[in-house]
Amino acid sequence: MDTNAALYGDLERILVTREEIAKAVRELGQKLTKDYAGKEPVLICILKGASVFFTDLIREIDLPLTTEFMSISSYGSSTKSSGVVRILKDLDRDITGRDVLVVEDIVDSGMTLHYLKDVLRTRNAASVSIVTLLDKPARRRVELHVDYSCFNIPDAFVVGYGLDYDEKYRNLPDIGVLHPRIYTK
Ligand code: 5GP
Repeated sequence: MDTNAALYGDLERILVTREEIAKAVRELGQKLTKDYAGKEPVLICILKGASVFFTDLIREIDLPLTTEFMSISSYGSSTKSSGVVRILKDLDRDITGRDVLVVEDIVDSGMTLHYLKDVLRTRNAASVSIVTLLDKPARRRVELHVDYSCFNIPDAFVVGYGLDYDEKYRNLPDIGVLHPRIYTK
């Protein structure tokens, strides 16, 4: 809590510390290294929320992987899913025959990834798996198999470590519950 004092003041509480995140990301990297041994997976970062997680995770995976970046609209500046999913930035390269890992910051209703998995399947990937830092299973509105998840969290709006509210708080090193007074102003 030594840095970003102004931002930390907007949190109700810290949910996952930077130390817990680092440990979980390291362990996930080791698991993916084993599970994808002998393969050259392509990891897709879902912008912008997964960017911090993504850049930490790829450095914990000891494989000849490649990276792609995709941008999808889901939240705008509100804290409820609109259900509207649009691809704002698509992949740069073909993924035919590739083992794909979609890297997300958080699975909430599951609608974004449910849609995205369908899109990627039509592009003839060899496999498509979902990797998420956070999961809110209680909020699921569609059936979605999450292959790798670091933390299950309760139904609360969280920010930090890449996750935003109105584009802010992404630079917090820890993950915290945003105080409702911030979005009920
Ligand atoms: P879903 O389609 O699963 O409902 O929503 C996934 C997206 O919603 C995430 O990628 C993220 O952008 C946003 N989201 C869901 N819950 C939270 C949350 O607690 N905090 C933040 N900052 N974004 C969230």
